[in-house]
Amino acid sequence: MENAKKELTLQPGKKRRIGVMTSGGDAPGMNGAVRAVVRMSIARGCESYAICEGYEGLVKGGDLIKQMFWEDVRGWISEGGTLIGTARCAEFRERPGRLKGAKNLILKGIDALIICGGDGSLTGADIFRTEWPGLLKELVDTGELTAEQIESHKHLNIVGLVGSIDNDMSMTDATIGAYSSLTRICQAVDFIDSTAFSHSRAFVIEVMGRHCGWLALMASISTGADFVFIPEKPPSEGWHDEMCEIVAEHRRLGKRKTIVIVAEGAIDRELNKITPGMVKDLLANRLGLDTRITTLGHVQRGGSACAYDRMLSTLQGVKAVEAVLAATPETPSYVISIIENKITKKPLMEAVKLTQAVATAIAAKDFDKAISLRDAEFLEYFNCYRTTTMTAKPCLRLPENKRMRIAIVHIGAPAGGMNSATRAAAAYCLTRGHRPFAIHNGFPGLCRHHADSISSVRELSWIEVDGWVSKGGSEIGTNRTLPSEDIGKTAWCFEHYKFDALFVIGGFEAFTSVSELRKARDKYPAFRIPMVVLPATVSNNVPGTEFSIGSDTCLNALIDYCDAIRQSASASRRRVFVVETQGGRSGYVATIAGLSIGAFAVYTPEEGINIGMLARDIDRIRESFANDHGQGRAGKLILRNERASKTYTTEIIANMIREEAKGRFESRFAIPGHVQQGGSPSPMDRVRAVRLAVKCMQFLEQEGQMETAVIGIKGSKVVFSPMEEVERDETDWAERRPKLEFWMGLRDVADTLSGRFRPVPVT
Ligand code: ATP
Repeated sequence: MENAKKELTLQPGKKRRIGVMTSGGDAPGMNGAVRAVVRMSIARGCESYAICEGYEGLVKGGDLIKQMFWEDVRGWISEGGTLIGTARCAEFRERPGRLKGAKNLILKGIDALIICGGDGSLTGADIFRTEWPGLLKELVDTGELTAEQIESHKHLNIVGLVGSIDNDMSMTDATIGAYSSLTRICQAVDFIDSTAFSHSRAFVIEVMGRHCGWLALMASISTGADFVFIPEKPPSEGWHDEMCEIVAEHRRLGKRKTIVIVAEGAIDRELNKITPGMVKDLLANRLGLDTRITTLGHVQRGGSACAYDRMLSTLQGVKAVEAVLAATPETPSYVISIIENKITKKPLMEAVKLTQAVATAIAAKDFDKAISLRDAEFLEYFNCYRTTTMTAKPCLRLPENKRMRIAIVHIGAPAGGMNSATRAAAAYCLTRGHRPFAIHNGFPGLCRHHADSISSVRELSWIEVDGWVSKGGSEIGTNRTLPSEDIGKTAWCFEHYKFDALFVIGGFEAFTSVSELRKARDKYPAFRIPMVVLPATVSNNVPGTEFSIGSDTCLNALIDYCDAIRQSASASRRRVFVVETQGGRSGYVATIAGLSIGAFAVYTPEEGINIGMLARDIDRIRESFANDHGQGRAGKLILRNERASKTYTTEIIANMIREEAKGRFESRFAIPGHVQQGGSPSPMDRVRAVRLAVKCMQFLEQEGQMETAVIGIKGSKVVFSPMEEVERDETDWAERRPKLEFWMGLRDVADTLSGRFRPVPVT
């Protein structure tokens, strides 16, 4: 005990100490969160401590609570699992265990804890905080600590980050790790798909999720599964018949493979378990399908975090440090959440209670309540899934006079998710009784109408689009040409094909096309139909939205590329790689990829490049290599957007760095080019494509709808913005990007965490 007292701790005026811990099941992205917390704590003038092995480390103390320095977390953003360890700790569930934990924290001078874990871990943390004054009193009363030791630690600040692959926490759209896990699942199902197709087999795939069906539902949407079983929305009583009818209908339409996804916790309305074995027997016995079961298991936890989880964990880690520093004794414990595209903080216990209420509602068979307690997005996704798979349900058809001929066209460069959106739109149309027409090869395709004997406008059938869900590129063909090239002929074709509505998928040219059609409405009545743009471009530069489908696929392709490059850079001593990214005149892709791989610097068209900037960066790199105790083993990456500067090309920058390094370090450049359009679309692009496409169809079918609009995610909302307003107020026409780019504020975060800016303590 004497020794313990000697370890004494934080003196008045000393730096604040912030602890960070990962707890519960591991999840990809946890390391990104720890890295962000450690570096941001240091940048804000605090000291950072890792509590290793979850609550076990807190209870045992000693070396399991260790100070973390800037270099300790180098490269962590790319690592899967959790490098500071996690464990389940029974001792912490009891007060005596928590008493030990409190003493260990005081001995290290820590009174702020950032915990990344599931609802169990966060509940434990909140109990700890509530008990904190009582625990300290007891430690003083029993002589374990002195009154002086506890004096400056009267309050414990807790901030939660939800790290869980299940995405089972209420009040947040996504938990750290969920999209990475979904990525693994989709890769596995895509592989299974080809063998299922070859043998015309059925596969029943079990995925994780004991109490939450998010992974199962999202995997089903992303892979076009025929049926899904999730705990929050058990199938109706006659589910055996319903599933067989849907599968049989899909087979009748020509489908050669059948995929049914079962969440681990799938149940029926009487709470009886629905097992993969039961589903297999049904498919085999009733439908005579050659059926196999695949249980994906722990593969779902593995691997490096996807781009989204890297960004989420980094930004949430930063927000958590801010929340700690802003906390007062009166503020509640917070959990950091994300709603659509907005990172925000919510009262921790409210989120935990809502999460636990889902399990209670399921146990009470109140399934409407269970699903309503999940995020609004969850139910919307469920409904999207149903309307795009239940083509044979006559009850979902609209009356004859409400059915439309809807044209679908792709404009601009291909982007991941374009096909998924088209498939979802077509399936939705067929369920509702509309007729979906694909315009092949954009507006020039439409206008070639007379020249070709084969029409480039073709009605889409369910079976034709069904396999498109996982396909990259553009199945119907895309083209950059604007309708103004031949506006008269375009109008003629609209009239000829009797289009009642237009769905345009693409990037800035898609937006411009609808703008032109809208402006031509006075002259051409054929354009007086509802039209909607779904932004889809790797550059994410479409006004009216913060997110374009395809940009996530691009980011994932780019971070895979950069991870490989970094490995090479680290293997050879002291090497800097300058990587050129796509993105047109928008620095979004470069910036977010930079944030997600921990790039040293990012050069964007918005900011440009100048000699002073390069000189400062080279000085900083030199300094960083000089101080590097790992003998320069950490390769450094610089990302440069293709249009950041006309003069300072990627190659020139790499040469300048080499020249200035004077042999102390090396420099190379790399241009991934079209690799960035990605192969198969990422699950995030697939699910968002489906959801937004279905919303677009619902927009077009609204009674009396004549609007032209662009759908977008803006902050925490999905909105349809009238074209006229977006064209006038939000568009920088000269630079082909939105006037306000939400991600500009993230540049400082990226620079701070990469060490490009020297940490400036803020008191
Ligand atoms: P996952 O979602 O992966 O299951 P989780 O955080 O919910 O993550 P749990 O096993 O429930 O995982 O909790 C992890 C640890 O948190 C437990 O081993 C225990 O140490 C602590 N913990 C959980 N619930 C409580 C509680 N009610 N009181 C105190 N500590 C708790």
